[in-house]
Amino acid sequence: MIELKNVTKTYKMGGEIIYALKNVNLKIKEGEFVVIMGPSGSGKSTLLNIIGCLDKPDSGEVYIDKIKINDLNDEELTKIRRNKIGFVFQQFNLIPLLTALENVELPLIFKYRNTLSEEERKKIALKCLKMAELDEKFANHKPNQLSGGQQQRVAIARALANNPPILLCDEPTGSLDSKTGGKIMELLKKLNDSGKTVVVVTHDLAVAKYADRVIYLRDGNIVEE
Ligand code: ADP
Ligand code: ADP
Repeated sequence: MIELKNVTKTYKMGGEIIYALKNVNLKIKEGEFVVIMGPSGSGKSTLLNIIGCLDKPDSGEVYIDKIKINDLNDEELTKIRRNKIGFVFQQFNLIPLLTALENVELPLIFKYRNTLSEEERKKIALKCLKMAELDEKFANHKPNQLSGGQQQRVAIARALANNPPILLCDEPTGSLDSKTGGKIMELLKKLNDSGKTVVVVTHDLAVAKYADRVIYLRDGNIVEE
């Protein structure tokens, strides 16, 4: 589902070249649950940005669902992101003025423009909230009327809206207490059992037990699997 071959990514800082990723090789199979760990500065965000088609490597090849993304332009990358990847973040990144349901509808508006009626959109958004196990009674609540765990469920529902095969999660438990974090991980595990490929970047050791595989990064290298 995801493959990186000899991927290198550098940043220039003043006169210095920083290797954020050095010759990284990584294969993630369809339906796998992979956790990526490593100290701050080890290249986790850079790796996530490359897998998420938000950034391209300096050298090496990246394949997402058999599509080589190196040579795609921004418009094509956006399309891959939209169809293949759902993003979940530490800070939920919900739009405060929109309800839970409207937040989940948003990607459907971008993707389908006028081809999906409002009614169809709401139906899909409700189905996604249900998959994220948020009680329907919260559908019309704004984010600030919801707990952290509930907000993360809305964010996960939004990530599911375009029915992507891959979920990329950046510290999904980072703003939650350990009990709530555990529940969110159980939800991600359930979605993985139903067929989603799940990649989680985290500092949280408690997250590792949900993984089929844990990858450790250090100084831009995979040091242990
Ligand atoms: P992590 O997510 O594990 O903390 P990052 O991928 O953010 O690691 O960073 C890897 C390395 O690349 C670090 O040394 C960091 O300082 C550097 N880096 C990341 N982004 C940039 C940037 N935009 N400009 C310069 N250096 C960067
Ligand atoms: P396309 O191939 O046209 O980009 P999809 O294959 O993703 O679209 O979706 C096809 C149809 O499935 C859409 O018209 C929409 O009504 C419906 N659909 C899309 N996402 C979901 C979802 N998460 N849950 C249920 N139905 C969906």
